Amino acid sequence: MSHPVLTALGLQAEESGTYLGNGEWSKTRDAGVLEPVNPGNGEVLGKVYASSQADYDLIVERAQAAFKVWRTTPAPRRGEAIRLCAEALRKHKDALGSLVALEMGKSKPEGDGEVQEMIDIGEFAVGLSRQLYGLTMHSERPGHRMYEQYHPLGIVGIISAFNFPVAVWAWNSFVAGVCGDVCIWKPSPKTPLSAIASMKICNEALRAGGFPDIFFLFNDAGTDIAAGFVDDKRIPLISFTGSTRVGRHVGERVARRMGRSLLELGGNNAIIVDPSADLKLAIPAIVFGAVGTAGQRCTTTRRLFVHESIFDDVLAKLVTAYKQVEKKIGDPTDPANLMGPLNSRDGVQAYLDAIARAKAAGGKVETGGAAIDRPGNYVLPAIVTGLKNSDEIVQHETFAPILYVMPYADLEDAIAMQNDVPQGLSSAIFTQNLKAAEAFLAASGSDCGIANVNIGTSGAEIGGAFGGEKETGGGRESGSDAWKVYMRRQTNTINYSDALPLAQGIKFDL
Ligand code: NAD
Repeated sequence: MSHPVLTALGLQAEESGTYLGNGEWSKTRDAGVLEPVNPGNGEVLGKVYASSQADYDLIVERAQAAFKVWRTTPAPRRGEAIRLCAEALRKHKDALGSLVALEMGKSKPEGDGEVQEMIDIGEFAVGLSRQLYGLTMHSERPGHRMYEQYHPLGIVGIISAFNFPVAVWAWNSFVAGVCGDVCIWKPSPKTPLSAIASMKICNEALRAGGFPDIFFLFNDAGTDIAAGFVDDKRIPLISFTGSTRVGRHVGERVARRMGRSLLELGGNNAIIVDPSADLKLAIPAIVFGAVGTAGQRCTTTRRLFVHESIFDDVLAKLVTAYKQVEKKIGDPTDPANLMGPLNSRDGVQAYLDAIARAKAAGGKVETGGAAIDRPGNYVLPAIVTGLKNSDEIVQHETFAPILYVMPYADLEDAIAMQNDVPQGLSSAIFTQNLKAAEAFLAASGSDCGIANVNIGTSGAEIGGAFGGEKETGGGRESGSDAWKVYMRRQTNTINYSDALPLAQGIKFDL
């Protein structure tokens, strides 16, 4: 019997993890089984049959054929296809949001919010389908016209992490789809059901609208097929979201074959609270940033720099707020809860190890710091003081709700500390001082891909380009002009004169 949340989406207790195109799900049953677990109680949610190498080869073959048709489909027509996907997701938002909450462990409002992000990027992509603009340039030669255009790239490979099991796929595939690409998705082995449900919703909408298959799916029991995917020359772009450890390997492999990669890797995000900050804004932003999704967002607030003059006050307010959150930790599908479990037992162990290492380095746990003794992967969100930014554990991304709080005296020092980590994803300052805000945003300010004023580090909107610098990987996806990575750029020069003038005035008289 499948869980009611699965039933609401038409999913069975046993599902194929491979969408082959042509409306077909693979019948492979001997390539391994994934057993996603409800992190709220440890129960297995269902069985997902993994893909075989033959499944993968068939997908690539069909995706290559699909691309030949899709690349010549007018971009606004491609936009109509994505509009249908967004509309179908709107209809299934409640059910898919519940499945994301159930399988990943994030709270129900955050699960719904993730589906809303899919809808939002879908609608963004519809508009984008009429705005894939190139530039025109003035030629230095008479009777010549020069311009650039963007063509579809080919097959986009998407490898995603467990913590955003559906939105990251939509960020990539909806934009890539209007760009004329077809997409092959390998989701996290921890959240295959959310991926299967998303594929069913979108592919059924495409078929009902008379559109061809542009989205394919495979699930790998290990990492062999995924490794081959990364090395596959038929996939011009690999968009990888995950840890810096795996992302570094993926980036190197793709570079070796001269492919293109889009890397969205780990973060170690900080908020600075200056003496003028409005704490009515700062405290909820810090708490949401640090404990939202149980600290399992790439943009989670992990470090907090508070001016020494308000340090004790801010710390006391945060501890009080954390005690409130502790009362609302529980079943993520219950909308009353603010925080769900960690996704896996490994995640709980990583949290406990980090707390032990923080204590060994001289840290003081102000609140939280322990697992909750009940079924499921629940922990108490922790605040740790007494460490330096340079301490090894503070430099490291632990994917759990642990916030290191440190005092500062000079804004310049706070900005230097905020930048002094290997990662460069998201950052924020809370201030009412114009000079402080501008210093934070200046070229000598935050070195992150995202820098905010009076708003926290997490919860980006789809309209901006999302991504970060340094070990976060340098990729940008979602809004703004992030679409350009999914297309190949071509510069065109047309001579409509009767002469053949060479560029730079070069003479070549025959
Ligand atoms: P992970 O690196 O363990 O796994 C990510 C994906 O890589 C999974 O689908 C996994 O199966 C796959 N994978 C593993 N080995 C592979 C290999 N050799 N070749 C190809 N694919 C392979 O990450 P995770 O634990 O799922 O996610 C958490 C991490 O993701 C955190 O570090 C978080 O910060 C990061 N993240 C970053 C962003 C961002 O946009 N910057 C967004 C979400 C998550």
